Amino acid sequence: MEKHLLSKSTFMYGCQCPKRLFLHKHKPALRNPADEKQQAILGAGTHVGELARKLFNYGIDVTPPDFYSYHLAVKRTQALIARGETILYEAAFQYEGVLCAIDILVQNGTQWYAFEVKSTTRVKPQHIQDAALQYYVLKNCSLPISDISIIHLNNNYVRQGALDIKSLFSTESVLEEVLEQQETIAQKVTELKAMLGSGTEPVVDIGPHCVDPYPCDFMNHCWAHIPAENSVFELARGAGWKLYEDEYQTLDQIPDDYELNATARMQLTHHRSGAVHLDHEALQQFLTTLTYPLYFLDFETMMPGIPEFDQSRPYQQIPFQFSLHVQQTPGGVLDHSEFLGDGLHDPRKEFTETLLSYLGTSGSIVCYNMSFEKSRLNELVELFPEHANRLDNLNTRIVDLMIPFRKQWYYHPDFKGSYSIKAVLPVLVPALRFDELDIQEGGMASLIYSQLKYQDAVTATIQRQALRAYCKLDTLAMVRIVEVLRDLTPFPLQRRGKS
Ligand code: SF4
Repeated sequence: MEKHLLSKSTFMYGCQCPKRLFLHKHKPALRNPADEKQQAILGAGTHVGELARKLFNYGIDVTPPDFYSYHLAVKRTQALIARGETILYEAAFQYEGVLCAIDILVQNGTQWYAFEVKSTTRVKPQHIQDAALQYYVLKNCSLPISDISIIHLNNNYVRQGALDIKSLFSTESVLEEVLEQQETIAQKVTELKAMLGSGTEPVVDIGPHCVDPYPCDFMNHCWAHIPAENSVFELARGAGWKLYEDEYQTLDQIPDDYELNATARMQLTHHRSGAVHLDHEALQQFLTTLTYPLYFLDFETMMPGIPEFDQSRPYQQIPFQFSLHVQQTPGGVLDHSEFLGDGLHDPRKEFTETLLSYLGTSGSIVCYNMSFEKSRLNELVELFPEHANRLDNLNTRIVDLMIPFRKQWYYHPDFKGSYSIKAVLPVLVPALRFDELDIQEGGMASLIYSQLKYQDAVTATIQRQALRAYCKLDTLAMVRIVEVLRDLTPFPLQRRGKS
């Protein structure tokens, strides 16, 4: 059997961008270095796939020993079907150079049913396209296929005790949509095969397709002509693509009369003038809402697709860590407290009790992007109704330090249109740097925490230190940002809490 030209993955690359498919086949060395987080997401997908097999027990796994042996899997699939096997995992089929492997294939009577497993909580358009290719190959291989479905995680499932596999997954037939796409799929297959056969690299410019539906792994190569600093893509609210289409690549090239949304215009104006925008009155007003003692608080969470703990759903945010800096008076001494789960057990009970023991009953709780912390507190109220009053009290005391920046009461050209703490901190407090830490963003913290249980003792200790350092910097950053805002807006009125 000749080696396949297209697989399901490479077909999907080609649908996203023919150049991506070409580079994958002919210039793989241009690929971006591997992304640890992306690898972890792929790993999670594999785990979900294995669990879903339990919906159809006692199937035969046709997965070949390596990627280069799919021709063996195709032959084995044919032999197993001929032998009367009725449940196959990764059954492989090939039609005119297009290979597909079906996650789960089940025979009932004379008909076959195909199932694709996804680690998402709903069916996405790219899943239909993916299933449509599988169906195209199966039909052309003359398999009597009655239905094709997506099995995905059910986000209404709440774990209680052992995993209930039947409730964990939802199964949705996509046959109707798949049938509608058959003609398009056949055309696309012909087109992509012809492109690969020609050996000529397609001319495709960068565009929103570079990240939709998945971030392309050749972006370092294709985006090399975009300047690292002051490119039009630094403009807020997606203004960059229109400018790029109009052949502007840098902020300095944009004509003065170019139509921009208000945020992008403000950003450009400040970029050109280098001037800082400061609304003294609004900032002062904001600072008067801070009631001492101030509690600077930040949560870290993880979102396991397969619920690890009782009373949790797929991808539910599980708070596992917080950092807290407490300051009794403006410029006063700082106390630091923290909590970090053990990485093995459900951290939420201890997290909640520790949090309540540290946060008192009065004084503002300062968060950055407070909707995140508020949502987690509301979820804890549902989980621990016995603490509802005290948790609700925390929620009423939260003040969002992001507001002055989101509302542009303070804007610095070096924020580059962003109001995230990662953009604001280096400008206001250059001495504090996330980029010097081993963990530099929440996604990485979540990944490292969720893998702690697999680490040896020495590695786990180092990683726990890194988690502490990261979360601590988040709250120290808020302390220093408030100090800077106070210095910028000499502040006559200070209020104190009751206790
Ligand atoms: S970076 Fe964009 S243009 Fe380049 S191959 Fe990927 S999707 Fe295509």
